[in-house]
Amino acid sequence: MISSGHRPTVAMINLGNIKDNLDQIRRQLPSRTQIWAVVKANAYGHGAIQVAQFLQGDVSGFCVSNIDEALELRMAGIDLPLLVMGVIPAEAVRLAIAHDIEVTLASQEWLDHLLTKVGEARGLKVHLKLDTGMGRIGFRDKMSLTKSLKSLLTAGMVFQGVFTHFASADEQEEIFFQEQVECFQELLTALPQRPKVIHASNSAAAIWHREALFDAVRLGDVLYGLNPSGDILKVPFPLKPALTLSSSLIHVKEVPAGSCVGYGGSYRTTQTEWIGTIPIGYADGLLRNMQGFHLLIAGHLCEIVGRVSMDQITVRLDKAYPLGTPVTLIGQERQHQLTVQDWANYRQTINYEVVCLLSDRIARHYVQ
Ligand SMILES: *Cc1c(COP(=O)(O)O)cnc(C)c1O
Repeated sequence: MISSGHRPTVAMINLGNIKDNLDQIRRQLPSRTQIWAVVKANAYGHGAIQVAQFLQGDVSGFCVSNIDEALELRMAGIDLPLLVMGVIPAEAVRLAIAHDIEVTLASQEWLDHLLTKVGEARGLKVHLKLDTGMGRIGFRDKMSLTKSLKSLLTAGMVFQGVFTHFASADEQEEIFFQEQVECFQELLTALPQRPKVIHASNSAAAIWHREALFDAVRLGDVLYGLNPSGDILKVPFPLKPALTLSSSLIHVKEVPAGSCVGYGGSYRTTQTEWIGTIPIGYADGLLRNMQGFHLLIAGHLCEIVGRVSMDQITVRLDKAYPLGTPVTLIGQERQHQLTVQDWANYRQTINYEVVCLLSDRIARHYVQ
């Protein structure tokens, strides 16, 4: 979908801030630790191609979730290593080989299907995925792990990596995290040979668990200037949010007391009120549960009143404002700041979900 570039609703992505966040975390890590940038889901809504092009001189590779996301980067000229962290259809393996895309091997069944139904997979670079407690994809025992390693080597595939994923690295409680580390280390002892790269840490583990770094870290959330724990744990360096979201008033009117606003008349004015309209709605990722949230208009916090529509929201203004008055939805205006985390808290979700749900309809502009 083409973004709606003629609307005033724009997400500004500061690539320099992403780079600064990368540099901040790199300073906390040993120099030998590789950093792979996670740019799945369009770089958490920030634009996978733009982010990858900007970071390609500064990271060891990129992680995505499926083969199409990897192909998008290859087509855009990214030639660093790319790892697909999810399970790809065995039929897509020829694409992975043709475009030098590294894939995840998470079960013997998948490998059997690949070798019997698809045939040739010589040269395919694979990372073995170990399930150490996430309970999602991956090998859980040494027997199946070593069996798969043997068959992949016999089939001429390249044993590129081994990895796992932590379920609770962003939590205060550390017992479960430590159990996952121990499980990973125990499973690694079964491997008769070492791959090129062993990796486990996401943003949270890289920030708060330096004891489990292995060879490489896979950083997503923190690169975009977001705290993976939400408000729970403090990040020990200043994070720079990479995304701001702004728009402007496209309609302003004064309505008498007792007027209904929005679908279902869910808001009724209690006095004469100024109502402003902003061209953003749930189709943009400003979901219906944002009703009641406050936005910044000329430095004033103004409440979203009435239902959030697909394409528009209505806000109660403190006075008449001219058409075109800037609106800050995420970002800083005078002494006030609205963050992705504020949106997440209001919606009782995580900052990841807020940025991922900002739809393609919102135009993205880039500054360095
Ligand atoms: C998404 C993902 C990451 C990155 O997680 P962040 O918390 O955003 O750093 C790392 N590893 C895997 C397997 C993932 O799916």
